[in-house]
Amino acid sequence: MGNIISFDGTISINDDSLSMSNGLTDVLIDYLLISGSELAVSESEKRMIAFLAEKQQTIIGMGTVGFDIIEMPWQLDSFHKDKAFLLKVIDYARMLSFKKSVWDKLGYEPNQEHIDYALSRFDTLIKRMTENDIDNNNLQEWLADREQDDPVCCGYPKCPKHGVILSLFGCKLCNDGA
Ligand SMILES: [Zn+2]
Repeated sequence: MGNIISFDGTISINDDSLSMSNGLTDVLIDYLLISGSELAVSESEKRMIAFLAEKQQTIIGMGTVGFDIIEMPWQLDSFHKDKAFLLKVIDYARMLSFKKSVWDKLGYEPNQEHIDYALSRFDTLIKRMTENDIDNNNLQEWLADREQDDPVCCGYPKCPKHGVILSLFGCKLCNDGA
């Protein structure tokens, strides 16, 4: 059991996919979520973080939140900005992983070696993304499925307690009991 984040769903031994335990998956998503919620300014940046905020094993099941990088809600207009944004989110998440205030917010202290591994593999996968890999249908479908939801229709509000962007399932940290 565990989750795999791959570039495009093609997974083979020794490729660049990020294969993680369920526990490490939560650690990665928590840190990307806290980092990204603080840094996101534009609609497309907030959308990326709302996509990650949906990866909630407590709600949808352990080992079911793997995804492909090309599935993320990329759009051509802001591609370079959004990619640079995500790389910044990863760097800042690494910094936050050393902060006691963040451990307190989450209620746990991450294993440094493990979170480093996950963040650097995720970084490599994001760097691989190009304009040519964008499938505009992915964004349209993602938005259509979420048209009625608070996050998409109302400017991606944040949890008043944790300051993280809400997903259609609500706040990941609240749902995890943080
Ligand atoms: Zn919350």
